Amino acid sequence: MLLDTYGRVATDLRVSLTDRCNLRCTYCMPEEGLQWLAKPDLLTDDEIVRLIRIATSQLGVEEVRFTGGEPLLRPGLTGIVARCGELEHRPRMSLTTNGIGLDRTAEALREAGLDRVNVSLDTLDPDTFQRMTRRKRHADVLRGLAAARAAGLTPVKVNAVLMPGLNDQEAPDLLEWALEEGYELRFIEQMPLDAQHGWQREGMITAGDILAALRERFTLTPEGEGERGSAPAERWLVDGGPARVGVIASVTRPFCRACDRTRLTADGQVRTCLFATEESDLRGALRSGADDARIAELWRKAMWGKKAGAGIDDPSFVQPQRPMSAIGG
Ligand code: SAM
Ligand code: SF4
Repeated sequence: MLLDTYGRVATDLRVSLTDRCNLRCTYCMPEEGLQWLAKPDLLTDDEIVRLIRIATSQLGVEEVRFTGGEPLLRPGLTGIVARCGELEHRPRMSLTTNGIGLDRTAEALREAGLDRVNVSLDTLDPDTFQRMTRRKRHADVLRGLAAARAAGLTPVKVNAVLMPGLNDQEAPDLLEWALEEGYELRFIEQMPLDAQHGWQREGMITAGDILAALRERFTLTPEGEGERGSAPAERWLVDGGPARVGVIASVTRPFCRACDRTRLTADGQVRTCLFATEESDLRGALRSGADDARIAELWRKAMWGKKAGAGIDDPSFVQPQRPMSAIGG
């Protein structure tokens, strides 16, 4: 098991497949100048599958989410999913993506064994999309979403970040649209993980703001009071259900006490948390011939040192060196 000193057990593995991306979301990356990981430093497909096999067969990992950067940019993605789908201890597999190109790959990913997708979309307006992502790709994302639904990668979840002065008025419209389309919407509070360190606590759109805006148009009732468990999203039934909306309030209502995550960066470092300031090198161990038992031991040791919480709202908070795109969101 991947146990830590606070008694938490990590069963959910986030794997970053690349730090590169075809968008430049303002809360994530600068327009240019970001230093990419060098190709030889990235884990190979074989190394990724091996680490996932060790995690599922020896460390109790049950769920694997592929992310990035933009995971659809990784040429071997479908093959990695297929190989993980054939493991003896097959994990549930999902993908977090910006949706660009998903119209071409959703079917193949489903056939390879992918269970679900989360597609990030912050706005219904193509111009706002362009301002927020610095790219003109709104229609591609909508096509990707529809393809995911058609391929049965359901429930299709949509992740939205609200930014002051850009899309902060859109919460009710986004929810109305998601309900119509049959997508499950989750708002994510903006976190201090942008490469340019531009996050400001003042003015950020909080879970409280989002819920207040939604309540002007919808009736929200908490789903399963006290049953949030390890799920980061607090969920509400919309107008009595069964439709739901989630809010991931990492800043104002952190869920660290119930966290069940472990993370692997594209260059093979274990991170205990998005906000960890330390990493443990599995790539070095892999490439110097360590056997599975040794890798598992290193992974266990890394997780044992997991901190109690991220403390974003604490004045002593220090933003990690790596941006979200390089950690894997
Ligand atoms: N490129 C893929 C995508 O956008 O879905 C996967 C990686 S992205 C880093 C994963 C998620 O993190 C996205 O939903 C994105 O909106 C979110 N994200 C990125 N930067 C963030 C930030 N500073 N605060 C909150 N969420 C952020
Ligand atoms: Fe790319 Fe995702 Fe970051 Fe946007 S949030 S720049 S899509 S990695």
